[in-house]
Amino acid sequence: MNLLRDILNFCFPRKCPVCGGRLYGDEVICISCLSAMPYTYYHRIPDNRLVQRLSFNIPVNRASGCFFYVSESPYHQILHQLKYRGRAWLGVGMGRLMATHICADDASFFEGVDALIPVPLHQKREGLRGYNQSALLAKGISEVVGIPVVNDAIYRVVDNPTQTHLTDTERWENVQGIFQAASDIAVRLQGRHLMLVDDVTTTGATLASCAEVLYKAVPQCRISVIVLGVADLG
Ligand SMILES: [Zn+2]
Repeated sequence: MNLLRDILNFCFPRKCPVCGGRLYGDEVICISCLSAMPYTYYHRIPDNRLVQRLSFNIPVNRASGCFFYVSESPYHQILHQLKYRGRAWLGVGMGRLMATHICADDASFFEGVDALIPVPLHQKREGLRGYNQSALLAKGISEVVGIPVVNDAIYRVVDNPTQTHLTDTERWENVQGIFQAASDIAVRLQGRHLMLVDDVTTTGATLASCAEVLYKAVPQCRISVIVLGVADLG
C-alpha cells in the first residue's frame, strides 16, 4: 500500500492545505505549518470556554478543540478543503494528528472514554459529499487511541442550511430537533462515556444539540467532545 501511495503521490502530489506546499509521505500538513499551528491546548483546562459553551442544557465532561481559526487565517483552509474540496484524506490524517498532539501533551483526555461518536450529516448531504468528515476524523483518532467509533448512534433528521450567516440566537433555534437517537442506544451505550467528534464549532449550537439528544437517550452516560477547529469564541 505504501508503494501505491508513493506512486499516486508522485503522479498527483498532495499539497499542504495551509500553504499549498508539497507534502511528503504521510504528511497532511507541511512541517512549517504544523509547527506554527494555533493549537487551543483546551485539553489542559478542565473548565475551558468550550466546556462552558457546550454545557448549556446538559453537563459536558471534557471538551477540546485542536486549533483556533478565523476565516481570514490560512488554517481555515484545512476545514474548507476537508468539507468542500473533496480532500477526504485530510479527515483521517487530521484525526490522527489531533489525537497524537493531545496524547503527547496529556493522554488523560481520552482516559475512560468508551466510544467516539461522529456528529452525523444528513443522509442526503453525506451522499452528495461522499463522506462524513467527522466520521473520518473519528476514524483517525480511533487509530491512535484505540477507542471504537460508533457511527449509528444518532441521526440527523433535518438537513438544516448552513449556519454561517445566522445570528447566535438564530443558530440555536436552527438546530432544535435536527438530531434523533437510534432506538437501541439506551441498551447498547448505557453507563458509557461517549465522546462526540465534530469538524468545527462556532457557537457550539450544533454540538450542544447533538450532545443533549445523546445525553437524554442514554441512561447514566457521560458526554465529552472533541472538535478539529474552534472559531474564535469571542
Ligand atoms: Zn504548509
